[in-house]
Amino acid sequence: MSDIRFDGRVAIITGAGAGLGRSHALALAARGAKVVVNDLGGAVDGTGGSISAAQAVVNEIEAKGGEAIAHGANVTKADEVADMVDSTMKKWGRVDILVNNAGILRDKSFAKMSLEDFRAVLDVHVMGAATCTKAVWDIMREANYGRVVMTSSSSGIYGNFGQSNYGAAKMGLVGFMNVLHLEGAKNNIRVNALSPTARTRMTEGLIPEEALKLMTVESVTAGLVYLVSEDAPSRTVLCAGAGGYAATRIYETDGIFLPPAEQTPENVAKHFAQILDPKGQEPYEQGGQQTMKFIAKAAEAAGVK
Ligand code: NAD
Repeated sequence: MSDIRFDGRVAIITGAGAGLGRSHALALAARGAKVVVNDLGGAVDGTGGSISAAQAVVNEIEAKGGEAIAHGANVTKADEVADMVDSTMKKWGRVDILVNNAGILRDKSFAKMSLEDFRAVLDVHVMGAATCTKAVWDIMREANYGRVVMTSSSSGIYGNFGQSNYGAAKMGLVGFMNVLHLEGAKNNIRVNALSPTARTRMTEGLIPEEALKLMTVESVTAGLVYLVSEDAPSRTVLCAGAGGYAATRIYETDGIFLPPAEQTPENVAKHFAQILDPKGQEPYEQGGQQTMKFIAKAAEAAGVK
């Protein structure tokens, strides 16, 4: 298999001044991409900010012979993101890859969480990804080429105590990916999600040191690089950590049909085990398939063809 290369491609990576984003930026630049290293340079909770984190990564890339520029746009601010994309277009004339990686944490149990902290986390992860993707979407559509990645998390996909804001945001990004995958397909825009687990300032202190040593950012970046490559899949949630790679898929059980006279909560309770039965479950490609399945079951029961 030939090496995955990005010569001639331009990539914007948000939150690339540290952690996973920095590792993604270094890897893409090493494989030939011109990279926009975006970072607000704030603390884990999103407060503060400085361009120096992004600039340090640019310096690292340039020292290795790569090409990169730093931009300190706050991903939630449409005017700052527009300026970042304009600068990229002026310098390199294209945007092929967008990695929505910027993120913050404001962990607390939901009982203790303020709505302000809930909104701030949704704002950076969901609105930040939407704002950046919106800013490059028409460029990618016109070029008939685009690779977009959302950074999700097992905290959203499966849940994690104390992260209701983060979980809502991270699963929201999976929904965003599902729809953009459908809308981007005809213009060769492939949209995926990454569910990473790695040693960064976000996980330090939460996971034992021995385990953290195995959880390198580079192991996650190997998966990310494939997700933005020429031969990338689309609509995949790739999970990566400590050298493990897996995919999250959402299935719907075949379920049951209840005729009108039996459509009662008691009957739903009575048949609940059957509703959950995984036999015949399927991963759907579009929401409409669920509606069609239910209509088909009802029509069959009614003897309608
Ligand atoms: P990190 O804190 O090292 O990196 C996040 C970066 O995003 C920081 O450099 C920060 O300055 C930047 N950022 C924050 N808000 C921004 C904004 N509004 N505009 C621009 N930049 C902003 O953490 P990380 O672990 O490398 O996280 C990267 C991504 O991976 C995040 O989306 C995070 O939620 C996700 N994630 C990480 C893990 C993990 O195990 N580390 C697990 C699941 C998901």
